[in-house]
Amino acid sequence: CFITLEGIEGAGKSTQQTYLADYLRARGREVVVTREPGGTALGERVRAIFLDPALPDTGADSELLLIYAARAQHLHELILPSLARGAVVLCDRFEDSTYAYQGGGRGVPAARIEVLSNWLLQGLQPDLTLWLDVEPELGLARACRRSTQDRLEQETVAFFTRARAVFAARAAASPARIVRIDADADREQVSRQLLAAVQERLRL
Ligand code: C5P
Repeated sequence: CFITLEGIEGAGKSTQQTYLADYLRARGREVVVTREPGGTALGERVRAIFLDPALPDTGADSELLLIYAARAQHLHELILPSLARGAVVLCDRFEDSTYAYQGGGRGVPAARIEVLSNWLLQGLQPDLTLWLDVEPELGLARACRRSTQDRLEQETVAFFTRARAVFAARAAASPARIVRIDADADREQVSRQLLAAVQERLRL
């Protein structure tokens, strides 16, 4: 079973990912916790490129191709083998983030992303996507409190507002896959919503 967590910065994805992993493990499931960019040695190096303030001018197309290079490795090395042996894969960000960040945020046409998506994924989709929807101002304030990432300064409220609009459009287009979670709420309330969605949609 393949579950992704999506949302802009400060939505609380990684905290909730840990919570959900603990819950599923307590119910006897094998859970693979991973993230994008990341999840493999190559993916973590790509992540470091994204977070490197010395590389501020990476073009949107280059970013897109780096993300897909990392995703190819992630799928073949970790995600597909884990799913094949029956594990639950919990992935912090996946394709919806690509449409939101490189597409909505940085202006790459969605059709271009689709070409890469069709080529690599050949229709593979998460069974469930938990979209942690937070107000951009609130998310940014939370993220700035915990982070020293220079990148956050480049990614302004306007950037996150565009990214959020893409998440919203994708959720509207795929209601069977994507569940919106109100992530303005406090941590416990977000966890409750998340659990309800997982129990209702996947009966895990
Ligand atoms: O998941 P997290 O928020 O930790 O992502 C790390 C960084 O990678 C963020 O600064 C995010 O903006 C960036 N990123 C991106 N495009 C993606 C995925 C992540 O720019 N598709």
